[in-house]
Amino acid sequence: MRQKTALIPTLRSVAEAEMISHQLLLRAGFIRQVAAGVYTYLPLAQRVLNKISTIVREEMDRIGSQELLMPALNPAELWQESGRYDTYGPELVKLQDRHDRRFILGPTHEETITDLVRNAVNTYKKLPMTLYQIQTKFRDEKRPRSGLLRGREFIMKDAYSFHADRESLDEIYQDMYQAYVNIFTRCGLEFGSVEADSGSIGGKGTHEFMVFSEAGEDKIAICTSCDYSANIEMAEIVIDETSSANDETVAPIEKIHTPNIKTIDQLATFLQVGPNALVKTLLFIVDEQPVMVLVRGDHEVNEVKVKNIMEASTCFMADEQTIRNVTGASPGSLGPVNVKEKITILADQALRGFAQWHIGANQDDYHFLHAVEGRDFEVSKYADLRTIEEGDKCPRCGGIIRFQKGVEVGHIFKLGTKYSDAMKGTFLDANGREQMYIMGCYGIGISRTLSAVVEQHHDEGGIIWPEAISPYAVHLIAVNMKDETQRNLAEKLYKDLLHAGVEVLFDDRPERAGVKFKDADLIGIPKRIVVGSKATENLIELKSRRSGESQEVNADQILTLIQK
Ligand code: ATP
Ligand code: MG
Repeated sequence: MRQKTALIPTLRSVAEAEMISHQLLLRAGFIRQVAAGVYTYLPLAQRVLNKISTIVREEMDRIGSQELLMPALNPAELWQESGRYDTYGPELVKLQDRHDRRFILGPTHEETITDLVRNAVNTYKKLPMTLYQIQTKFRDEKRPRSGLLRGREFIMKDAYSFHADRESLDEIYQDMYQAYVNIFTRCGLEFGSVEADSGSIGGKGTHEFMVFSEAGEDKIAICTSCDYSANIEMAEIVIDETSSANDETVAPIEKIHTPNIKTIDQLATFLQVGPNALVKTLLFIVDEQPVMVLVRGDHEVNEVKVKNIMEASTCFMADEQTIRNVTGASPGSLGPVNVKEKITILADQALRGFAQWHIGANQDDYHFLHAVEGRDFEVSKYADLRTIEEGDKCPRCGGIIRFQKGVEVGHIFKLGTKYSDAMKGTFLDANGREQMYIMGCYGIGISRTLSAVVEQHHDEGGIIWPEAISPYAVHLIAVNMKDETQRNLAEKLYKDLLHAGVEVLFDDRPERAGVKFKDADLIGIPKRIVVGSKATENLIELKSRRSGESQEVNADQILTLIQK
């Protein structure tokens, strides 16, 4: 491609972008924003997306997954059948056609594919079957501010597998796991896989593929001694016995006046104890029911764990008005004693050994001291409800946990019969009996992967593409197009490279050398051929974008060198 007529609108600076990948993709002329979280992929980005997609296709095809393409526009009925029309939340884009029929723009396609397969595949003889697509997804994300890392319209590879039994699901899951390792390795990413929560898709057994990067919104708990890693939403807590008992001498419950004390730190100062001797009470709405959750003062409640313990599909913190309605107090004064309504009270396992609890009195500006579980209130259930912290023990080996930030590029799930149950997806087994499909689903953010690669592969000058997914293999630069010898040699090399099937971007613009080199650094094609003043001696420069190393070579050798 000749750069003179190529659409590569580079910019010296951008104001709006925070993430490095977002900045560089804008500056290097790969993307333009059309609306918040909605982008045009310019020709360079489109080439990278195609290459990532090709790698994905090769790895999917290798494990016997078949490509199809489902629509973005899907009837609401399918989502009503699964129940997700109401539970998916505000990220689901809903719309109506001219006849007032309701539709959604697919954020994922379990419903559509389950509907397809329940009609098209009726016998165990066709199973297992794995289908995938590379397709545009829509999610009305709350914070679409990170460029392609979190779009409201983005490209995903989503695969779905259908099985007659669990063992078959386990096998395909393992194949997918390996395919994902291959895909992200081939894309040049440094990544890890972590145990994860299955979110609104549901089911047990899931891994997220995380690219380690400061740009990540996900926190991963990593053990410093063994290879344990988990999303912090999921990381289990091993009970630390030494921290789980406070003062043994139990006094009668006592209500005390605590004016203007709203936080655990204020209460700790007021009572002159550490926050770890106190109990924090929060109110959550779990599947529309209020649930009180208690953790030690220095711990944080983990919503995902609360949701999972309650076997619920939604869980969020109650707002102030709801808290007042349920408890009669404002958020800083809650506790399990004298709750107005009978509600579920969950307590973190670290509180099990607490002889006496100092807690809010469900009355503004009052707390109880020496409340005793079983005497003054009842806990419905003790469980692991808090979020792991740096310095906690590794649940596997007892080593020390530290955190790392990551970008989730892929996610594999064992769905089980969640969708086949809801949508009556059945087949006939060998005995002619009707059975539910057992399902798995497997996603990769194609556009997010592109961005994640930029997060990991760049320097001050710009992007440095790994060869496998670079928009072009070679950047040919004629330093001075006005110089006839340089121009002629560059034109000849361009033709030779094209003829040899090398993907080449030819900077034939009548620009100054400085501008060309700056743009070339920004765009980040790994190999660069510079045709400059030594063209008179048939000599050119071959330079690596990554190492900056360059060598002078005879122009006649260039094809052999490039193809090597
Ligand atoms: P996140 O927690 O980052 O929102 P998710 O758990 O919602 O991700 P999945 O539903 O598992 O994501 O979707 C499969 C894959 O699609 C993800 O692993 C990710 O790579 C990609 N993806 C999800 N949401 C977005 C988005 N808003 N923009 C770009 N890619 C996305
Ligand atoms: Mg999401």
